[in-house]
Amino acid sequence: MILIVDDNPSNLYSLQKLLESKNFHVDTAGSGEEALGKALKNDYALIILDVQMPDMDGFEVAETLSDYSKTKEVPIIFLSAVNTDKKFITRGYASGAKDYVTKPVDPEILLLKVKTFYNLQEQNMAMKKTQQNLELEVKGRRESQVTMKSQIDHFHLMLESLPQIAFTVNAEGNIDFVNGKWYEYSDSEQDFPETHPDDLNILEEFERARKKGKSLELEIRIKNVHSQDYRYHLLRVTPVNDEGRIKNWVGTFTDIDGQKKAEKEKDEFLSIASHELKTPLTSIKAYIQLLDRKLKLDKDSSEAGFVAKAQNQIEKLNTLITDLLDVSKIENGKLKINKKPVNLENVISNAIDTILQTHDENKVKIERHGVKPDILIPLDEIRIEQVLINFLTNAIKYSPNNNQVIVTTFVDEEAEEVRVNVTDFGIGIPDFKQEAVFKKFYRVEESSLQFQGMGIGLFICSEIIKQHHGNVGVSSIMNEGSTFYFTLPLN
Ligand code: ADP
Repeated sequence: MILIVDDNPSNLYSLQKLLESKNFHVDTAGSGEEALGKALKNDYALIILDVQMPDMDGFEVAETLSDYSKTKEVPIIFLSAVNTDKKFITRGYASGAKDYVTKPVDPEILLLKVKTFYNLQEQNMAMKKTQQNLELEVKGRRESQVTMKSQIDHFHLMLESLPQIAFTVNAEGNIDFVNGKWYEYSDSEQDFPETHPDDLNILEEFERARKKGKSLELEIRIKNVHSQDYRYHLLRVTPVNDEGRIKNWVGTFTDIDGQKKAEKEKDEFLSIASHELKTPLTSIKAYIQLLDRKLKLDKDSSEAGFVAKAQNQIEKLNTLITDLLDVSKIENGKLKINKKPVNLENVISNAIDTILQTHDENKVKIERHGVKPDILIPLDEIRIEQVLINFLTNAIKYSPNNNQVIVTTFVDEEAEEVRVNVTDFGIGIPDFKQEAVFKKFYRVEESSLQFQGMGIGLFICSEIIKQHHGNVGVSSIMNEGSTFYFTLPLN
């Protein structure tokens, strides 16, 4: 908006009309005092100021305007009929005005000057606005930087108070923070602790995980810089995502050395105990068989029934001890697999026969589905039969209200593998526990009281299949049933 100041109303009127005809918004003031009042209240892009006015002349108005911060930048065009000599013009400029037009006003000249000043002032104001916005943004950024720094400090303080070794790695893979405990296992903030020569290299494993964008979990021995002893630690490094992008990584080393030692002692105890139990049990088994033969008992007598029951229980005990021995063999890497070409279909039907013989015919029904793998596959017959018997025994055991089991086989020529499914319609396994059932001593809590077991059968199965370079797995729906499967490569 433009303010025109003149004590002569007809001058005011003609100038206002001239400017409005060119689409300028115009305001008017009839005296210097009125002009000052308006200029302080409103924002003007330009003031056209008559020099000769009673009371307060144009120069005085301009000088006063230049004293106020709100108005000091507003350009002024002086209008005067008389003071055309140099002295007056100089005073006009000195009082802060930007230009000078003499009366009678040439409308074209005045309009040109108005347009120029008006545009300049508009640009000036726009620039000021941008500058203000920029200043605000800078201030905002500075503030958020301060907040972020205090958040990071707080986070580091928390990592510092953890009982574990803790560190963070930036998106480029460089360690950028370590807590005090780090220095018990590393001399430098940049280097991961030294691992045992037989264990995996932390940096290599982390780089692999970083490329995949996946978290890392490792059990490794790291060397204490003071005692030079290696201690088992569980290393966990987890990515921190921000809007779908990995921002950095947070890692911890948890000392599990005590746990590992206890586990080792337990494995050693199991190994000794199962060996020691096996020998007398074999003798008991032999003596009972001798006794059975010597006594020549009538098959229907109660004594013959007792002997049969004793033999049955001995067989159960034998299976338990053999399983425990298998576990310790797996721990020591001594579970031997003797592969030779065997007809898999024969192994499957042998396993089914064994199950049918040892279970009540009315209580168990095993159906055989799918393409029969009547082919020779390199495998350890006894061990694969053991896996099948385990799957089938579990299928029956964990289906107290259903007696049906289905064994389905698929031969996948393309993938060069055969797959065996054992399906039951029993109690099922909750989703998030399905993977864990193949772990050593794992039993599903919900069913562990109702069904007896040690939770090692599936662990042994998965180790046997692993050694055959195959896979094991399960899919299951609670209260509907489970399908346990294994695959074997054809060659
Ligand atoms: P065990 O049967 O001696 O406990 P396993 O290693 O054979 O040990 O099985 C581990 C656990 O997996 C079992 O305790 C049980 O909770 C679950 N499980 C195995 N097979 C089945 C099945 N067919 N249906 C439901 N749960 C099963």
